[in-house]
Amino acid sequence: MKSHTQVAVIGGGVVGCSVLYHLTKAGWKDVVLIERDQLTSGSTWHAAGGFHTLNGDPNVAKLQGYTIGLYDELEKISGQSCGLHRSGGLMLADTHERMEWLKMAHARARYLGLETELLSAKEAQALFPLMEAKHFVGAMLDKADGNLDPSGTTHAYAKSARINGAEIYLKTRVAALKPRKDGSWDVITEQGNIQAEHVVNCGGLWAREVGRMVGLELPVLAMEHMYLVTDEMPEVVAFNKERGHELPHAIDFKAEIYMRQERSGMVLGTYEKDCRPWQPRQTPWDFGTELLAPDLERIAPSLELGHKHFPAMAKAGIKRIINGPFTFSPDGNPLVGPVQGLRNFWCACAVMAGFSQGGGVGLALSQWMVHGDPGFDVWAMDIARFGDWATRSYTNEKVRENYSRRFSIRFPNEELPAARPQQTTSLYDVMIAQGAVMGDSWGLETPLWFAPKGVEPKDIVSFHRSNDFKHVKAECLGVRNAVGVTEIANFAKYEFKGPGAEAFLSRLMTNKMPRAGRLILTPMLNPEGRLIGDFTIAKAQPDKNGDGRFIMWGSSQAQKYHMRWFEKHLPADGSVQIHRYDMGLVGLSIAGPKSRELLQRLTDEDVSNAAFKFMDHRSIDIANLPAMINRVTYSGDLGYEIWVAPEYQRRLFLAIHEAGKDLGLINFGMRALLSLRLEKNFPTWYRELRPIYGPFEAGLDRFVDLTKNDFIGREAAVKEKETGGKLRRVTMVVEASDADVLGDEPIWHKGQVIGWVTSGGYGHYVDKSLAQGYVPKELATDTARSAFEIEILGERRKATIITDPLFDPEAKRMRG
Ligand SMILES: Cc1cc2nc3c(=O)[nH]c(=O)nc-3n(C[C@H](O)[C@H](O)[C@H](O)COP(=O)(O)OP(=O)(O)OC[C@H]3O[C@@H](n4cnc5c(N)ncnc54)[C@H](O)[C@@H]3O)c2cc1C
Repeated sequence: MKSHTQVAVIGGGVVGCSVLYHLTKAGWKDVVLIERDQLTSGSTWHAAGGFHTLNGDPNVAKLQGYTIGLYDELEKISGQSCGLHRSGGLMLADTHERMEWLKMAHARARYLGLETELLSAKEAQALFPLMEAKHFVGAMLDKADGNLDPSGTTHAYAKSARINGAEIYLKTRVAALKPRKDGSWDVITEQGNIQAEHVVNCGGLWAREVGRMVGLELPVLAMEHMYLVTDEMPEVVAFNKERGHELPHAIDFKAEIYMRQERSGMVLGTYEKDCRPWQPRQTPWDFGTELLAPDLERIAPSLELGHKHFPAMAKAGIKRIINGPFTFSPDGNPLVGPVQGLRNFWCACAVMAGFSQGGGVGLALSQWMVHGDPGFDVWAMDIARFGDWATRSYTNEKVRENYSRRFSIRFPNEELPAARPQQTTSLYDVMIAQGAVMGDSWGLETPLWFAPKGVEPKDIVSFHRSNDFKHVKAECLGVRNAVGVTEIANFAKYEFKGPGAEAFLSRLMTNKMPRAGRLILTPMLNPEGRLIGDFTIAKAQPDKNGDGRFIMWGSSQAQKYHMRWFEKHLPADGSVQIHRYDMGLVGLSIAGPKSRELLQRLTDEDVSNAAFKFMDHRSIDIANLPAMINRVTYSGDLGYEIWVAPEYQRRLFLAIHEAGKDLGLINFGMRALLSLRLEKNFPTWYRELRPIYGPFEAGLDRFVDLTKNDFIGREAAVKEKETGGKLRRVTMVVEASDADVLGDEPIWHKGQVIGWVTSGGYGHYVDKSLAQGYVPKELATDTARSAFEIEILGERRKATIITDPLFDPEAKRMRG
């Protein structure tokens, strides 16, 4: 073994081998892989080997597309067969809702450049005669689906990496990891030690244990998973003979099974409701290439339905039953990237579909390590998306929920119940008593909407407008016509202080820092000039040393993601201190034309428009308690955000309600807030603002000051300004009926798909269905009536670009 290396990849499953290969492909040759036993000896060896492109997140779907396309390249480089069977796959819908879901998936596939086809149940049966059409209402065909040989594929990655210069050490368990002062690691193995500049945790079934070596409790858990292999089936033999090719894969959502051909029989696997975690506390180091005892009783409901839907399966003999463990994160997507708070420690674990995702994970991680950026939008699998609230037992509950719902529909207005409530503020019970329907926002219970007296506070899940529609409308009208209050504790909040704070923020942000007592809005860019953040920053009262203090608000989901970036760029001289408040600072927002009057009733400070202007920041007493107040709201109306320590929030809320009684004060939730912002064309982080867009494309021109000091991404921003970039964010009015856009629908122009929706919904005050999305910049000026179409649940709806917000286009309400 070498004594020093640039990268030590821990784990020789399909993911570790892919990371190793991609590092060499990106140009790092001094890289090693350290494997406890043999390659594939974790979860990889007993995988069913299926692959597919579809994923709930379009960016992960793209990476899956990359993975599937990579196998030919690997075979060519390594000379090792991956055992590819590109047979195509069918998703079978048994209900109208599932068919709507498939129509959405099909529409989304269009803008991803994936080839899918919607079929009737009879057409599906013609392709897959094992099924009985009468149990289904339709299907979607994805020609890219297929399966491969897990061992051959893993070895193809490993051989390709070796050809490029990588070394692989087998039978070498990493026992400990010790950080050095220079950021490198001593990797302590049973065969000697190696100093590595970077370490990558690709520990698969042991990823949690490798994490513990550096003090992390990663949100990852293995689940038992069963599939059966049948004896030869005459129906399969006959099909192959007649058609000259294999049967396609099939997924039966109702029975929660997947199937594919294996030799002259079939593989049938289940994602059963009665699922079992494997080794919930600690994976034993001596677990070898063993299988777990099968438990057919647990999967009997799936098998019974499967036998009904595919009668030939009921007659087939079972040759083998495989029960093996593999790992999941709480939301089922991988955990990839550098770990916040650690230097040079990277993860690529919880990859539940190694043969669909392993290539994309390896590509993204290697680019991140070599070039400082994954090169794609990998948010959906970024390890930073989970906070400290994702504990081991939380992970256990969520992973079981996720596994048992693998083939269930997740409706857009559906909040999943497992492990909730996890975090609550002091208003939780108060708001529940007032009819709140709660949602999970980065582990925190947050009000979505309020059911009036006599109405059950519960969502009826649907792809269409649902039971909350008229209540959210009432909340929006209540805000626009009088005043509303909502909780905004779920925002991310940070404090930056120290003598270097202002210069530090100026270097990171595109906008000029505010004067004392003022606020700014500002994007943050990566060196490529892409959007990696969007913040509100206040210059607050100086601290006792007279140094400037800045308070910053941003997206709750991105807190770790942003902290990782800030820490990476912190000056080494200690001149800047960052504090993430988390739940140490909570807030309420009041909005609407009567919000000023309401605020004035709670304080003896002058809050008139002259004394407290739009984008002002003040520290004042309100309802007897100390607060920071920003004159800004995401509703785009006159309004204020009031920030207090958590012990004051309950009193503040009750005082606001008391003072607002005769002003017509109402509670409103996140759904109303998101509707109100649509009427102002305001973008949201993660939907409209993501690292695939530039600030000018996103229409954030006025928050990018190219005349101020140099900042990260400035050069690219100058170029983008010159060229105008490629895309433009637009808002459209959609001629929808009873369903609005959800996000990720294709946008059509003259019969071609030219863009995609990022988010939307109903603008209740302006009484219009609205969508935001990106189109090529040349088309953003086509404001002709119905120049565009947006595909909602399989139907194309006319859409018209609007350039000015429908509500208060001159911002008189907001500023007045
Ligand atoms: C029954 C079953 C069916 C499946 N079907 C499919 C399918 O059809 N399609 C699909 O895409 N996926 C499928 N999977 C999932 C697939 O197997 C996983 O996605 C994949 O194996 C994950 O690979 P990995 O490299 O992350 O983990 P692993 O394969 O677990 O690899 C981790 C490796 O790290 C090594 N290691 C851990 N700790 C250390 C240490 N301290 N020192 C040195 N080495 C260490 C281990 O020995 C192991 O070899 C299936 C899984 C099962 C169980």
